[in-house]
Amino acid sequence: MPLDLLLLGPPGAGKGTQAKRLSGEHGIPQIATGDMLREAVAAGTELGRRVEPILAAGDLVPDDLVVAVMRERLARPDTQQGFVLDGFPRTIPQAESLDEMLRQIERRLAAVLELQLDEEVAVRRLLGRAEQERRSDDTPDVIRNRMRVYREQTEPLVSYYMARGILVGIDAGGSVAEVAAEVEKVIEQLRVRAG
Ligand code: AMP
Repeated sequence: MPLDLLLLGPPGAGKGTQAKRLSGEHGIPQIATGDMLREAVAAGTELGRRVEPILAAGDLVPDDLVVAVMRERLARPDTQQGFVLDGFPRTIPQAESLDEMLRQIERRLAAVLELQLDEEVAVRRLLGRAEQERRSDDTPDVIRNRMRVYREQTEPLVSYYMARGILVGIDAGGSVAEVAAEVEKVIEQLRVRAG
C-alpha cells in the first residue's frame, strides 16, 4: 500500500527536516510547495514572477496557483509508492482540492502528522535559521506575519483532519532524532493496522 503522508504545523516546527528524513527512509518523494515556488522564483518563470512578492511578504499564494502546481506534481510517476506533503495544503479549499485529486487517483492520506510547537519556540527557531539560510522570508516582521497566516488560515486544517480520524499529534519540541522516533512509531502503527 502506498504511504501517503502529510505534515502539518507552524513555520519552524521542523516539517522540512522531518519530510526529508521520511523521504530518504521510506523512498518516497518529499513534495514541498514552498521549495517548488522558490525554485520558480529562482528560475524566473511566469509563475515565479507572480509569486515572488507574495513569498517575500509571507502571505499565501492563491489557491488555484498552488493547486495547479500540486496537480502536476502528483501526476509524476515517482509518487506511486507514496509521498510526504510538506507545506500543502495550507487552506481549507486546498485541502478539499487535495481530497478530490486523491480521489481521482484512488488514493487517500494514511495520516496527517501535526508537528506541535509553541509559537514562541517556533519564532526563535526561525530567527536562528534566518542566519544560516538567509531566506528572504525569515526576517522578524515576515516571520510574525507567517505565524498569523498559519493561525488564521492553516490551523483550521487540524479540525478538518481530526474530523476524518487521520490526525496524529506529534510533540515537535524535542531534538530532530526524538521527533523522528515519534514519527516512525506512528508509521509502524499504520503498517500494523494495514496488515
Ligand atoms: P514554506 O517553505 O512551506 O514555509 O513556504 C514558503 C512560502 O511559500 C509561504 O510563506 C507562502 O508564501 C508560499 N507557499 C508555500 N506553500 C503554499 C501553499 N500550499 N499555499 C499558499 N502559499 C504557499
